[in-house]
Amino acid sequence: MNKGKVYLIGAGPGDVELLTLKAVRALGEADVVLIDDLVNREVLQFTKTNARVIEVGKRGGCRSTPQAFIERKMVQLAVEGLTVARVKGGDPYVFGRGGEEVETLTRAGIVVEVVNGITAGLGVPAALGIPVTHREFCRGVTFVTGHTAKSGDEPNWHALAHSGTTLVIYMGLNNLASIVAGLRGAGMRASMPVAVVQNGTLPTQRIVVSQLDHVVADVAREGLASPALVVVGEVVKFAGSKVLQEPARQRA
Ligand code: SAH
Repeated sequence: MNKGKVYLIGAGPGDVELLTLKAVRALGEADVVLIDDLVNREVLQFTKTNARVIEVGKRGGCRSTPQAFIERKMVQLAVEGLTVARVKGGDPYVFGRGGEEVETLTRAGIVVEVVNGITAGLGVPAALGIPVTHREFCRGVTFVTGHTAKSGDEPNWHALAHSGTTLVIYMGLNNLASIVAGLRGAGMRASMPVAVVQNGTLPTQRIVVSQLDHVVADVAREGLASPALVVVGEVVKFAGSKVLQEPARQRA
């Protein structure tokens, strides 16, 4: 049988100009586009006019499409001989279940190509002028999920607090209080700079720049909501000092 192909495409953090050329090319080849709810709909301008678009939202707590259904759907479409573009926010391999999907697809004998995207952990701090590494202030950057912080599956707070790296925490907003408590309990200083960014790189971007012992109250007062990224580290002091990327809203 003439099987189709699946592209797992990372759409970047939001601003459509952060798509790669490879993503644009793959979108243009697709017969069917499965689009995640974190993805800016402006990416659809690069699809064929007759491409079928399927919304596959998986946002926690909202309308959701089970992962197994999405995977079955991709296999079914590819077996029909179609070229499928599965479009995800950021990078497919960074908290994006890309690994699981590649496994399922290859097990079914489907050809898969992964197209990198700019992960939120890089693109969002850059939109604020925060360099995630800076040799005067840190020895690296750690990408970590804040999602499991409540469930008994506690991260190693001591290792994180003393890593000497910038901490970039995905899915951390709902557990922000326990993240702060974990880092403080492990000895991170109360005045450590923290930024929380909602809808980074988009016109709806909202930012709270604070410090460890005030950030929970500041975020509550400002009413920030998901999707939001939490950045902890000395480099946060660069926020707003020099905006290296022009936000999408200023071009419009
Ligand atoms: N694969 C994606 C991450 C998916 S997990 C990537 O590489 O970026 C979803 C989490 O990513 C959100 O809860 C949030 O923490 C973060 N995120 C994604 N886009 C974001 C944006 N535009 N602004 C802030 N955080 C974002």
